[in-house]
Amino acid sequence: MKVKFLLKDSEIPKTWYNIMADMPNRPAAVLHPGTGKPVSPDDLAPLFPMPLIEQEVSSQREIPIPEAVRDIYTLWRPSPMFRALRLEEALGTKSKIYYKYEGVSPSGSHKPNTSIPQAYYNKMSGRKRIATETGAGQWGCAMALAGSFFGLEVKVYMVKVSYNQKPYRRMLMETWGAKVVPSPSRDTNSGRAILAADPDTPGSLGIAISEAVEDAATREDTSYALGSVLNHVCLHQTVIGLEAKEQMKLAGDYPDVVIGCCGGGSNLSGIGFPFLRDKIAGSKNPRIVAVEPSSCPTLTKGIYAYDFGDTAKLTPLMKMYTLGHDFVPDGIHAGGLRYHGDSPLISQLRHEGLLEAQAYGQIAVFESAMIFTRAEGILPAPESSHAIHSAILEAKRADEEGKQKTILFNLSGHGFFDLSAYDDYLNGRLKDLDYPKEKVAEALHRLPKVEG
Ligand SMILES: *Cc1c(COP(=O)(O)O)cnc(C)c1O
Repeated sequence: MKVKFLLKDSEIPKTWYNIMADMPNRPAAVLHPGTGKPVSPDDLAPLFPMPLIEQEVSSQREIPIPEAVRDIYTLWRPSPMFRALRLEEALGTKSKIYYKYEGVSPSGSHKPNTSIPQAYYNKMSGRKRIATETGAGQWGCAMALAGSFFGLEVKVYMVKVSYNQKPYRRMLMETWGAKVVPSPSRDTNSGRAILAADPDTPGSLGIAISEAVEDAATREDTSYALGSVLNHVCLHQTVIGLEAKEQMKLAGDYPDVVIGCCGGGSNLSGIGFPFLRDKIAGSKNPRIVAVEPSSCPTLTKGIYAYDFGDTAKLTPLMKMYTLGHDFVPDGIHAGGLRYHGDSPLISQLRHEGLLEAQAYGQIAVFESAMIFTRAEGILPAPESSHAIHSAILEAKRADEEGKQKTILFNLSGHGFFDLSAYDDYLNGRLKDLDYPKEKVAEALHRLPKVEG
């Protein structure tokens, strides 16, 4: 039986799929933090080049992928899709499990699918420099890589605790030519203010975003870049699902359920939106499942409301599931899933019942990661392991119900830089962190007051 489904270079999609063309309701407006009125493209121009702003609000269904971007995609795309036969055997399941593997990119995750086009549009628009943030370092690496391809200077504000604890990702960013500082830093007003109040703060993604946004807003030659959450980021990631649909055809199959881990929502959008298109059209009925950590359960326990994307309240207000913009999640190993908010598109689709969400603790997730790596060989990123865990539970449930299901999940990245997390697991040092109910309730008190 075939286990590997490959496409040719020429079969890399020529367009991205824009779900905004097909959503049952228009996406909720993004609001200006000062006026509370919908933001205009001009409001965003200091931060992003115009082609990305246009994609952010576009309702055109297919958006062409520039040839220069497709050329770079060929370095690792089309990415492989596997039938996890050895995992099925290990589980003794009757269900069929497939996974799309995004860890084959140079930086080891799905993130270059968007860092490459973002760098391209910035270059075309005459910007010289990109300011961005990174948590565990995956996004910073993807942006550093893209900067090196397009000759853009890249400055990365890296959450201080990761900067100190995860030096390898910093070294990789520097190897690709980026400048990396621990956040909060002395380089911005927001960073200096936070350091004055608490010199020993570990930092957070919300704080690092404030610094990068301030950097970009105060320099003519500089754009801001975000690795998840925004509509244009989710758009770029749809190359994953568009390829997966073709690969499913090669396998002569179609998924009953499509699963992705969910931090800001970009890899889930990537694998899920092209299948959701069929669901909205009524031609198929796949379930689309978002999987998050139980210590940062945005979609499962957050509220659907307008909130800021960052701690210093510099970003526009987005309607999304949120745990509060100043909520600082506990330091779990799946660093890429520690964000207080979520993609507005994913949030709205969840709110309207087109997506499901699940949350799991990290010990259960690592148990599933161990089963997977010993069966399939690939060492998964802790983030991706949330999707693996959900897929395994799905297969077990189907067996209990006497059903055979076709399950597809996105393996968003490899875990070679996360070996200390595996070491913790193997030596019994991994802890399940409770859902910080009080901390969230407090943060939710400080949501901005907005009509709508
Ligand atoms: C960043 C990251 C994620 C989480 O981000 P999303 O935008 O939710 O996809 C998941 N997996 C890996 C490997 C990552 O690097």
